[in-house]
Amino acid sequence: MMTPEQYEESLRQMNFKVYLQGELIDNPVDHPIIRPSMNSVKMTYKLAHDPQYADLMTATSHLSGETVNRFCHLHQSTEDLVKKVKMQRLLGQKTAACFQRCVGMDAINAVDSVTFEMDDKLGTEYHQRFIKFLTRMQEEDWTVDGAMTDPKGDRGLSPSRQADPDLFLHVVEKRQDGIIVRGAKAHQTGAINSHWILIMPTIAMSKEDADYAVSFVCPADEAGIFYIYGRQSCDTRKLEGGDIDVGNRQFGGHEALMVFDNVFIPWENVFMCGETEFSGSLVERFAGYHRQSYGGCKVGVGDVLIGATALAADYNGAAKASHIKDKLIEMTHLNETLYSCGLACSAEGHKTASGTYLIDLLLANVCKQNVTRFPYEIARLAEDIAGGLMVTMPSEKDLRHPVIGKVVEKYFQGVSGVPTEARMRILRLIENITLGTAAVGYRTESMHGAGSPQAQRIMIARQGNLEQKKNLAKAIAGIGE
Ligand code: SF4
Ligand code: FE
Repeated sequence: MMTPEQYEESLRQMNFKVYLQGELIDNPVDHPIIRPSMNSVKMTYKLAHDPQYADLMTATSHLSGETVNRFCHLHQSTEDLVKKVKMQRLLGQKTAACFQRCVGMDAINAVDSVTFEMDDKLGTEYHQRFIKFLTRMQEEDWTVDGAMTDPKGDRGLSPSRQADPDLFLHVVEKRQDGIIVRGAKAHQTGAINSHWILIMPTIAMSKEDADYAVSFVCPADEAGIFYIYGRQSCDTRKLEGGDIDVGNRQFGGHEALMVFDNVFIPWENVFMCGETEFSGSLVERFAGYHRQSYGGCKVGVGDVLIGATALAADYNGAAKASHIKDKLIEMTHLNETLYSCGLACSAEGHKTASGTYLIDLLLANVCKQNVTRFPYEIARLAEDIAGGLMVTMPSEKDLRHPVIGKVVEKYFQGVSGVPTEARMRILRLIENITLGTAAVGYRTESMHGAGSPQAQRIMIARQGNLEQKKNLAKAIAGIGE
């Protein structure tokens, strides 16, 4: 396994082409806006070397028998699925941000079982190609970005009917040695902190969309790929040089538009090319795993938010009020409900034909559906308890000012004995998670990440087995005996 330092260095060796606020960036690793997101991924390497977290952060590869980072592992049991969620909660607690590496883990687990079933039915050789890649990924301890979401253009039209054919990523040429692809993937979490990218189609497709049913891996800095970095609320505070107003000094997440400008992919890296009948199950399984993931990562960030809120109440002198205590209980109840769903869909998982374990899809979708709601309520309660000062407070520069600094100290003092600076720090942290850069990961991503709410409702309808429930009622009611 790579050390955190080796991980950072390995990114520095890459040749990323990244645009940020209209400029081509020289060195993403050390860019003040990007670096906190790199620190979050780095934490997945750091904790893997810490003996107290070895059980969660590492696993034994079923391919080599070696110890690998769990992010590179295929789940071999329901216990592995449960440990995955616990690992994600831990990392959410340690970073209070999106640590990005889960998308690759979820992608390899989905691609594994789907390519196995594809080969079994069609006689293709995608699975062995995939296993060859996975072997290297485990040996090298790569961070892989699982990339699914296309820009999608007109949502009422299928990929091949779009006015612009590039609105879904597609194959433009098949050659003897490989394929040429063009298009883009949007909202790509952690792309610029990844060594490789694993591309998957974004929706179930029909025969006419064959050029769009494509899955492959390629180095994240491959010729012809470039990125346009996503803007986040309050991101330029990171350019100010202070460490209070940013809310989270060290960690963050990122998303980017990933553009493929006629990129060559050799056949050995292609895992689907035209098999439209399998694109639906690949989407369903990847989404299922990622909906499970949210029952871990968002809960860990929620733990930090609840802790910060309780501290804000302490510093305000309001901690003993019964309504404050009750609101903290409610936040905890909601957060643990999310965790319960993450654990439940894991414990109820089952083995697929390839040997890799899949979560219970109904429960994973229920998990994510709750995630589209509960973090909003948790954030609302956090803002209620924090008070309006969270958004009206002067800046760190005012606090540090030789003259007005004393005024800020004096008038923003809460309970005596707690420095005003501590109160400012905790309020900025709450602001960061609910409204600032981390709100991408905690709030809007809770809504749309791993699929928007309606996508889960479609799956819940499909998996809910209403007919069986009707039969249960008929049996009890004595109908049709
Ligand atoms: Fe991992 Fe959560 Fe970020 Fe997805 S949103 S990559 S599950 S931390
Ligand atoms: Fe996500």
